[in-house]
Amino acid sequence: MRATAIVTGAARGIGLAIAQRLARDGFAVIATDRSVEGLLGEVAQHHAAGLSFRAVAMDVTNRAAVSAIARQIGPATVVVNNAGVAAPMIPFDRLDLAELRRVVEVNAKGTFIVAQEMVREMPAGGRMINIASRGYLGGAGAAHYVASKAAVVGLTRALAVELRWRGITVNAVAPGMVDTPMIADFTPQEMSALLKREPTGKAASPDTIARVVSFLASPAASFVNGQVIFADGGKTVGMPTL
Ligand code: NAD
Repeated sequence: MRATAIVTGAARGIGLAIAQRLARDGFAVIATDRSVEGLLGEVAQHHAAGLSFRAVAMDVTNRAAVSAIARQIGPATVVVNNAGVAAPMIPFDRLDLAELRRVVEVNAKGTFIVAQEMVREMPAGGRMINIASRGYLGGAGAAHYVASKAAVVGLTRALAVELRWRGITVNAVAPGMVDTPMIADFTPQEMSALLKREPTGKAASPDTIARVVSFLASPAASFVNGQVIFADGGKTVGMPTL
C-alpha cells in the first residue's frame, strides 16, 4: 500500500511540482490548496498514469477544516507545508500590522496549524518538510516576510527535537528565487535587478525544489533532522567578487 503524502498550496508553482514528484516517487498524494479546480486535470493525468493523486480544498489558516481533513485522510507519512504568500517590499517604518498579519497568518500560523493537526496521527518514520525561504536570513523592506519565514525555521527546529522520539524527522527547505506565479508580479526592471543578485543569473525551476523535498521524504534522508537545506544556487555562501 502506498504511504500518504499531503502537500499544501499545491495548485501551482513549487507545491504542484512537489505533489507531482512525490506521486512519481510512489506516494498516495493529497494535493491541497484554497481552491483545487485547477488540479482536476492533474488528478485525471496521474490516474491515467497509474499514480495516486487526489485534490482536496484546504485553507491552511482554517483549523477546523484542516482538522476535519486530517481525520478524513488518516495518517500521512509525509506532510509538506508549502502554502505561502509573497509580501510586497515595504520599508519597516511604513509596515502596518494588517500587512504583517496577512503574511504571518498564512506563512507562519498556517504552517503551525497543519503541522499540529497532521502530526497527531503521523506514524514512526514520518517526515515533515516545511518550505521556508532563503529570505529568512534577512532583507531590507521585507521584515514581515522574513519574520514569517524565520518562524517556519524556528518551528522546524523545535519540532525536530520534540518529535524525534516518535521517529519523525522535521526539516525545512529554503529556496532562492524560483520561477513560479509568485514572482510574476515583478516588473521586467525589478526582475532584471533581482536576477543580477542570483548566483546563477536565473530563477530555479520549481522541480529543482521538489527534488530536494523528494530526497527529504526518501529513506536516504532518515538521519537528516532539524536542518534547513538551502536550495539557492549557493547565494547563501556569497556572490562572486571577481
Ligand atoms: P505560488 O504563489 O505560486 O503558490 C503558492 C500556493 O499557495 C498557491 O497555489 C496559493 O493558492 C496557495 N496558498 C496561499 N495561501 C493559502 C492558504 N491560506 N491555504 C492554502 N493554500 C494557500 O508560490 P510559490 O512560489 O510556488 O511558493 C511556494 C512556497 O515557496 C511559499 O511558501 C513561498 O514563500 C516559498 N518560496 C518561494 C520562492 C519563489 O521565488 N517562488 C522563494 C522562496 C520560498
